[in-house]
Amino acid sequence: MKVVVVGAGIIGTSVAYNLAKGGVSVTLLDATDPASGTTSRSFAWVNANNKTPKTYFDLNVSGMQENAALQRELGGEWLYTTGNTIVSEDAGSLEKKVLRLKGWGYKARIISPEEAREVEPGSALSEAFPNAAVAHFSGESWADAPLATRTITDAARSIGAEVRTGAEVVGTEAGKSVALGGGEILAADAIVNAAGPDGAKVARMVGRGLPLDVFPGLIARVSAPPEVLNGLLHTPLVNLRPDGDGYLAIHHETIDERISEEADLDALAEELLKRARKIVPALEGSEVVGLRPGLRPVPGDGYSCVGGLPDLPGYYEALTHSGVTLGPLVGRLLAAEVLTGAPDPLLAPFRPDRF
Ligand SMILES: Cc1cc2nc3c(=O)[nH]c(=O)nc-3n(C[C@H](O)[C@H](O)[C@H](O)COP(=O)(O)OP(=O)(O)OC[C@H]3O[C@@H](n4cnc5c(N)ncnc54)[C@H](O)[C@@H]3O)c2cc1C
Repeated sequence: MKVVVVGAGIIGTSVAYNLAKGGVSVTLLDATDPASGTTSRSFAWVNANNKTPKTYFDLNVSGMQENAALQRELGGEWLYTTGNTIVSEDAGSLEKKVLRLKGWGYKARIISPEEAREVEPGSALSEAFPNAAVAHFSGESWADAPLATRTITDAARSIGAEVRTGAEVVGTEAGKSVALGGGEILAADAIVNAAGPDGAKVARMVGRGLPLDVFPGLIARVSAPPEVLNGLLHTPLVNLRPDGDGYLAIHHETIDERISEEADLDALAEELLKRARKIVPALEGSEVVGLRPGLRPVPGDGYSCVGGLPDLPGYYEALTHSGVTLGPLVGRLLAAEVLTGAPDPLLAPFRPDRF
């Protein structure tokens, strides 16, 4: 069996690695380079915090576990289980969420302002949000997603996967072949569409109309004094996390909403930093050192779209938001489906044929 995976983001790379482990002849194609798409522009919070209903929560919890298991398997250091602190001015909603998550066996608790100061001594949460409630989620992580993707790609290559960069897929015939931009045709018994935000374009190549929304987002990388933040911190103004020694990644959905073709991304990043200084006063001398504008791939109803389609034998989709949380798991489950023909029950609510 010969399988072609289109897209070497965290998802396609994970699919290719698991197929190679299963003894399949696999070619992983990317129009540019591994981890050059959304995967390198992600906040990369590995979590199941806001995930409902229970089936989607369970999928994301398995995704968190799979990330940790894969890091143990492959070695390297790209997953940081630092825990996450959430500050909310809507105490009732936060308490309700914590209760629900605890009931589902998730590590979640409301903490006092004193405890919040112990968890994040570099923050000024009480000063910035005097009336807010705070919760802590000790099992959540952030990932260096590009490093994870490169690590998985190298592992896939080392067990026989062929990885081709600068290889843009311009046409496919499900179950038969893939056409590359340069005119080359590759035989393929199966094709996996893991093209992230370009997933709908690749789906059209096999005549499938896939509803996939694409929302812009912006991560700013800023310089920071060493160890100014211990873990992830979500606040009503800005979200922050460590991003390697001496740097933080900052982001907020209220800034994402202002992104358009005319938007000045430098100005938006400066606004993120201004907000971050209110939460972490030691960022006073910090600077924006990098912008990571990205596109979130979100299947029509907001949930993952993973598996084969009965009407299109030899064609599979692996498209989802929260792909950093879910990538390693989706990779293993989809590869098993390609190999055995049997979808995993965890994926039952997230099959492509619902669209
Ligand atoms: C601002 C922002 C914040 C986010 N925060 C989080 C978060 O906190 N937690 C989380 O889990 N997720 C988060 N996400 C979502 C997550 O980053 C994505 O779901 C994930 O990176 C998608 O990975 P992917 O492999 O599907 O896509 P990508 O990384 O985009 O990879 C797709 C690849 O396909 C290639 N490609 C496309 N078309 C073709 C073609 N025709 N031929 C060959 N190659 C092709 C591209 O070059 C690209 O490399 C966030 C996303 C954004 C933008």
